[in-house]
Amino acid sequence: MDKAAGHAAISRVGGSPLSSRRLGTAPRRTEGYSEERFLAHQQSALQSERATYLEQAQSLRAEAESLVEEMEPGDIQFDDESGEGGTVTVDRERDLALSAQAMAAVEEIDHALAKITNRTYGICESCGRLIPKQRLEALPFARLCIDCKSGGLSRR
Ligand SMILES: [Zn+2]
Repeated sequence: MDKAAGHAAISRVGGSPLSSRRLGTAPRRTEGYSEERFLAHQQSALQSERATYLEQAQSLRAEAESLVEEMEPGDIQFDDESGEGGTVTVDRERDLALSAQAMAAVEEIDHALAKITNRTYGICESCGRLIPKQRLEALPFARLCIDCKSGGLSRR
């Protein structure tokens, strides 16, 4: 076995700048809003929304499960002409999808609550600038400022 120093120039592919920071040098903030009153207000708004979404998620899930219980075991394969099984399946899937959506909202809210705890609440997660209070009051768990939200390809 001849251990030649073969692979000489392994081209490094990393480091290509994927960032689409349009405003180049805008400083990223490391601290979000700090006014206790504003944060307390946002926190209570988040907590009440959280309770609403959680309840929604749970009741939808319970509904979906009750639909399963109503089904005859054979109905799960809805290949008969009645379409009964199919309807139940569709209702169930809709409930489950809505339940998942509500759970996703709960997760977003938890994320926002964590940001309040670690003092980064209000920082846009894309450009790092502060999200205007007005937007946060309308959507307390917003992760992005309007610019990033409307210009961004990805997350909400
Ligand atoms: Zn932004």
